[in-house]
Formats: sequence, C-alpha cells, structure tokens
Amino acid sequence: MRKTIVAGNWKMNGSRSLVNEFSTLMSGVDEATVSVVVCPPACYLAEFSSPGFALGAQTLSELDNGAHTGDISAQMLLELGCDYVIVGHSERREDHGESNELVAVKAAKAIASGLIPIICVGETLETREAGQLKSFLAAQLDALTAVLTAEELQKAVLAYEPIWAIGTGVTATPEQAQEVHAFIREHLAEFSQSLAQSLQILYGGSVKASNAKELFAQPDIDGGLIGGASLKVEEFIQVCQAA
Ligand code: PGA
Repeated sequence: MRKTIVAGNWKMNGSRSLVNEFSTLMSGVDEATVSVVVCPPACYLAEFSSPGFALGAQTLSELDNGAHTGDISAQMLLELGCDYVIVGHSERREDHGESNELVAVKAAKAIASGLIPIICVGETLETREAGQLKSFLAAQLDALTAVLTAEELQKAVLAYEPIWAIGTGVTATPEQAQEVHAFIREHLAEFSQSLAQSLQILYGGSVKASNAKELFAQPDIDGGLIGGASLKVEEFIQVCQAA
C-alpha cells in the first residue's frame, strides 16, 4: 500500500505573511491518509516552528560544504527541519543546467543524508509530439538507477511533471498521466520489481482543487506536486483533502 503525498512547491514565491498563514490555517487534513509537505524558499524554512506538516526544500547541493556561494547543503536543510527536498525540478534543469547525472548525484546525497528526495522527471511538448516520450523518460530514470540501488531508491519519491503542464493551466488528463505513471513503473520493474510496486509517484502540472480528486484516483498516481495552487492555503487544503 503506497501512502498518498501532497507536496506544495512555492518556487520563488511567498513571504513571511504566507508562512504565518500556513502555520496557523493549515488544518482539516487527515495525516493518516495523506502526508503533506510544504516546500517554501529556503530563506523561510526556519520560520516554520513545529508546523502540522513536513517541510521540504526546493533543491540542495551535492557537496558537503566549502566555497560554493549560494548553495545549501543537506546537513543545513536537516538543521532547518526539512524531511524532504525536491531534486531535478524542470526549472532547475532548465535555469541551472542540471543534467540527469547531476540530478542522480543530488538525489544520492539527499538519501545518504537522511532527506527524502522528490525526484522530478518529465518531458517537453516537443519531445512528446516527436514520439520520444518513453525514451526521454527512460533516460531520466536510467540515470537514477545507474547511481542508486533499488534499496536507496525506495527511500525516494518520484514526481512525473510534464513540462507542458507546469504553470500553464493545461493539466494532463487523468488517463494521460496514468499511462505515463504505469510506463514509469513498467520501466523501473526491469531494474527492481519491488521498487516498481512500492515507489510513490506523484503527478505535477496544473493540479488544483477542481482536478486533484480525479488525478489522485488513478491507480498508479500517489498524490501530487503542486505549484500555483499551493500558494493559497484554502485551495491547498482542498487539494490535500482530495487525496
Ligand atoms: P504548477 O507547478 O502546479 O504551478 O503547474 C507544478 C510544479 O512545477 O511543481
């Protein structure tokens, strides 16, 4: 049985007042059925004092410490109370040139440090329309299995986020998303049958209160990674309740 996760990715949004809203208003979510994670910008992590949900960061360094201006290590995130960290979001891949190989190394660092990486994969519209969806995703997954054992990957969460659905208002249909999630499990089964069955795979890309229930009801979808709709506490609660 895979537990549902709903993770909010604030990206470079939010403020101290949004932190306060989330700290005081997040309620009514049954923690027995859904794990709730909030990933604010790193500068706000320390401002949450014993929130009723888990905290996650949006990225981490693959290194431990040293002369790396602007970077944040796994140990620092642990000290700030993080349990999770998003790794390889398409915006990091695009804006910061994070390759499949670097994403795998960052995921390995998170796991070795005791953080749960939420590892993102997903294709552009051009890739999908060129009929390369499966080979593209397979390459992203193979880069992970080249570095991590099945046992290590059991300690991770995967997020399928088609880039054409991120922040666009265009959501993959539940059937489209389910089809890809099933493919991901099928591909991972070649590496490890038990991993393929037990790995939690989230869907991300324009998930909102109105479409979350149908998406989360798909057999291979174990929750969501939520961008825009995670910035409004009422809507985020509704998405969590849809799980
Ligand atoms: P969105 O973002 O929900 O705003 O589409 C999802 C994500 O990028 O994680």
